[in-house]
Amino acid sequence: EKKESAANVAEITAYECQRPTLLKHHNPHITEALELLEKYYQFLDHKQGDTRALAFRQASCTIKALPKRVTRVEEVRNLHRIGKHSISVIEDIVLHGTSEEVEDIRQSDWFKCMELFTSVYGCGPATADKWYKKGFRTIDEIKTSETLELRELQKLGLLYYEDLSKSIPRDEVEVIIEIIKKEVSECCPETQVEAVGGYRRGKSHSHDVDLLLTHKDSSITATLLESVVSHLKAKDMIIHASVYVGQNTLSRVSETHDSSAQPTYTSEGQQIKRVQFDHLDKAFCIMKLTRSHDKTPLIRRVDLIVTPPDQYPFSLVSWTGSKQFNRSLRRYSVKECSKTVTAHGIFDIIERKFSTAKTERDIFDILKLNYLEPWERNC
Ligand code: ATP
Ligand code: MN
Ligand code: MN
Repeated sequence: EKKESAANVAEITAYECQRPTLLKHHNPHITEALELLEKYYQFLDHKQGDTRALAFRQASCTIKALPKRVTRVEEVRNLHRIGKHSISVIEDIVLHGTSEEVEDIRQSDWFKCMELFTSVYGCGPATADKWYKKGFRTIDEIKTSETLELRELQKLGLLYYEDLSKSIPRDEVEVIIEIIKKEVSECCPETQVEAVGGYRRGKSHSHDVDLLLTHKDSSITATLLESVVSHLKAKDMIIHASVYVGQNTLSRVSETHDSSAQPTYTSEGQQIKRVQFDHLDKAFCIMKLTRSHDKTPLIRRVDLIVTPPDQYPFSLVSWTGSKQFNRSLRRYSVKECSKTVTAHGIFDIIERKFSTAKTERDIFDILKLNYLEPWERNC
């Protein structure tokens, strides 16, 4: 048993970005439970931050790296980043097939409602909790309520709930990519459009389509998002877009490494409270997409992100994800390389200078990491 445990430890690096994490692994029954707890604590702690939730995500990532199905809790007891709480859940699953704690949460009214309500576009945990506390239990009750005050985005999220809550299979993502590529090439020729997010990591289904746009001429990328959004609007393809622009001047880029205090602005110049993860121009859209062979349009969430050519590989890594992969990459770079990694670049904290990169491989090289393909970044 000791030998076996040692073999497992050897597979598991201190940081997720140092090893491949695939969608398919040997312990989905365990990671599913741990990720349910992650979600539960995201809901529960939405005011405090995500420390407790993160512990379950990290444990789940470690489990994904195991070379075989866990049969005894001893096999996981001393592995990196698996806390006491996770161990007790894993022990229950290994011994009894399920964890009572996890099943109780799964069955609880509050958790079920939080999952349901946060699946409405524009509704986060705070709003979902408010709706629950007011006694609402179904989407229909929310839709037909005459007392509830809803924000514009939430009204749209409810109006198109049926469409927007569908998960999007890969072949449909591909249809959407082609439709948008055609429009982009019409309004801004020679623009490069790359599908990123879960699709690029090989997921079979996505909740939205993420597209990263760039152009070899940085004077074009400076106004690309506005051009594309107005073109799509003129074609009646945008139902709603939350647009963030004008934070991407060069001076901003060099400030991004200490930018948490910077406000962000909507396209109307209105200051918004939530600070974005990066300063790329972006539009979070609800789009109406008409396919050539089918008259009923698809209503789907599409994220459009624009990056200047010199920042492209950094933005590609950042918008491919996963979120946990990005987290581990940032943590690893700061702690092990004294470098900060963002969607804009890599900055050496000691030498006080930026690195350049042409490809994703260059970025892994700069950080002295083995290259991971997008489908190996599913932490
Ligand atoms: P799904 O397939 O369900 O859409 P996903 O991994 O594509 O999953 P998204 O929320 O679409 O999830 O995010 C795509 C990638 O972009 C993730 O890697 C995430 O870290 C990054 N990301 C998402 N939102 C932002 C944001 N506001 N700013 C910067 N990066 C973001
Ligand atoms: Mn996505
Ligand atoms: Mn997205």
